[in-house]
Amino acid sequence: MTGPGDAVESVARAWTRAIADTSYVTYTSAEADDLLHEHARAAAAALRAGGLEPGRVGRELGFALVAAHYTDPQSLAATLVVYAQLGPALGGTAAALADLQGGIAAGYAAALRETTLTQQEAIRTAAFAARDESEARFRAVFSAAPIGIGLADLGGLVVEVNQALADMLGRSAEDFRGRHIRELAQPTDPPELWGALDDVLRGERDFYAADKEFSRSDGTSLWTHLRATVIRDELGRRRFLLGLFEDITERRTMHLNLRHQATHDPLTGLPNRTLFFEHLEEILGTADPDARIALCYLDLDGFKEVNDTLGHVVGDKLLIAVAERLAHCADRPGRLVARMGGDEFVMLLADGADAAAATEAADEILAALRRPIGFDGREMSVSASVGVVEHSIGGAHPTELVRAADITLYWAKNEGKGRWALFDADRSASEITRYTLSAALPGALERGEFTVDYQPIVDLGTGQVRAVEALVRWRHPDFGLLKPDRFIGLAEETGVIVPLGRWVLEQACAEAAKWEAGPHGPAPAVNVNLAVRQTHERHLVEEIRKALELSGLPPERLVLEVTESAVIGTEDGSLPVLQELAAHGIQIAIDDFGTGYSNLAYLRQLPAHIVKIDASFTAGLRAGSPDSHVDEQIVSALVTLAHGLGMSVTAEGVEDAEQAARLAALGCDSAQGWYFARAVPPDQLTGLLAREPAGDGLSPLDRRQRA
Ligand code: C2E
Ligand code: CA
Ligand code: CA
Repeated sequence: MTGPGDAVESVARAWTRAIADTSYVTYTSAEADDLLHEHARAAAAALRAGGLEPGRVGRELGFALVAAHYTDPQSLAATLVVYAQLGPALGGTAAALADLQGGIAAGYAAALRETTLTQQEAIRTAAFAARDESEARFRAVFSAAPIGIGLADLGGLVVEVNQALADMLGRSAEDFRGRHIRELAQPTDPPELWGALDDVLRGERDFYAADKEFSRSDGTSLWTHLRATVIRDELGRRRFLLGLFEDITERRTMHLNLRHQATHDPLTGLPNRTLFFEHLEEILGTADPDARIALCYLDLDGFKEVNDTLGHVVGDKLLIAVAERLAHCADRPGRLVARMGGDEFVMLLADGADAAAATEAADEILAALRRPIGFDGREMSVSASVGVVEHSIGGAHPTELVRAADITLYWAKNEGKGRWALFDADRSASEITRYTLSAALPGALERGEFTVDYQPIVDLGTGQVRAVEALVRWRHPDFGLLKPDRFIGLAEETGVIVPLGRWVLEQACAEAAKWEAGPHGPAPAVNVNLAVRQTHERHLVEEIRKALELSGLPPERLVLEVTESAVIGTEDGSLPVLQELAAHGIQIAIDDFGTGYSNLAYLRQLPAHIVKIDASFTAGLRAGSPDSHVDEQIVSALVTLAHGLGMSVTAEGVEDAEQAARLAALGCDSAQGWYFARAVPPDQLTGLLAREPAGDGLSPLDRRQRA
């Protein structure tokens, strides 16, 4: 059995061993032992107490380490390792242990910083005191300080450097004396450094600090944090330039390593997304706004299959080989290649590439990848698809550019892979709108964004309005008034057509119930379009019955328009539904007749009352149409057929008087089209319905509309 005392004992022992060699400490080993023992006990108590204790005790422990001159960061690392490994035996939760470790690191860092500042202040004061003949004291601090110190005269000539600085730079202190500080210049110096030091020398500036690189005598590089200040005598006259140099090489390397890790892909060594975006943002922020920038965004074709069939090891090797090829393509000023993730890469062309140059680069990439890649005695060739985007720097936005490139990449894939596609804003806009519309559809109904317009259908014999077709519109908050062609298809795909169709039906019935019989005939019927999908709804009949009941509209005044495709093929159950509706006294119209299967024999079986001849057949009868003969024969045949089956015929798309007259002559019963009236909102419809018919049945309802 081991008790808590034993655990403390073993922590203290391991700890002593671990940090023994990490720092030069003036304690005897017994003293150090006691110190660490005491802290291990305190840590154990804190861990068991929990709450804020572990953090607090940890910070104290960190401070104590520095106070005991364990100031080498290795001491901290060793301490943290010991507590990570043996800490659990001290009791307490894992969270408490984490708090303790966090406290140790925080306390240590704070203490170290304080010590450094104190040291530097002491040096500065000592140097300051040097003018008071207390040369000895200055010398003592100067030579014993663990930090590099250099003194130069007002002309910039080095007077003295201490041993620490000489050691840091790998030279003897004598080497420096009498040399001008400018000789220490390095290409990596911050641009303002020498001007700022001159300012300090001239007394125009009190203090300057910067990170500065030195090359050691052995050619290696040393990074220091330099603090420069001027030393004045008792009369306030400037005497020396004092430079304090702290070795930050390790810290900087660590930082650079971390930064490299954070900005590069570990597999291929290429810059990653983060670095790519940083780079892109920098260019967009600094380059000439009129210059052009381009992206080639590529994705390997069939990479998933490689991974699945040959394994990830082969997949990884392939990615590395691809990365090498791409890096070679990008080995030119202004180009950068990055791995965006998976098998997606991007090449940035910041060399003023216009569209032609950008697609040329894409060709270059495709050619580079096409050459077989050999590894493990195997030869593989890869193909890729590339989306190319080219834009002026002004007005470009990083994520927008990448999104555009990504969209374009998929065009390239769709067009058959192994090729590039160039971004086209118009094409993208229509696709984006389709997507946006589809996403907005479900909520649009709840938000009341739909309206219904009404278009009269006129009797070609009497000129009376026989019926009115309800046509839905979407008042989209961003895109304005949308015609059904933009969204009915999407509504069918997403199923929104079911509630939307129900809503249109209710609206139309309620509206139609208000229309009154005129002096010359009965109140018009209302035609409502029924999507295929709706005819598959179980409750359709019930819902329609309810809408009629609620509005008070008699079933005879409701016409449901269905397309041929909705009724061809009885197995989907549309036919019985239509038969049931017809049995309720509702009329059925076959919409767009002639555009679907046009199975004339089938027409016989349909419970339809009206055939609407599609505008594509009636268009040939418009004034000035060159070849009207065939269309006339088709319309004539359709009229004969429909009449033979006891159905009435409505001609669609009637745009002028000649067309109306010809269709009347061919025996069409009624017609719908802009010649008579366009689809209008319900309030305008009332005016159209009240108008006296012209008598010949062929006149427009409202002449102003044609203007
Ligand atoms: P449709 O049922 O064939 O409706 C006739 C379309 O032709 C309407 O277009 C109408 O505005 C247009 N039109 C009328 N006269 C003329 C003319 O003289 N010349 C020309 N060029 N066009 C004319 P709209 O309103 O854009 O509707 C398009 C289609 O959207 C409709 O074709 C219909 O299939 C569908 N639709 C409209 N509302 C609904 C609805 O509530 N439910 C369902 N399922 N579909 C609807
Ligand atoms: Ca229709
Ligand atoms: Ca139609």
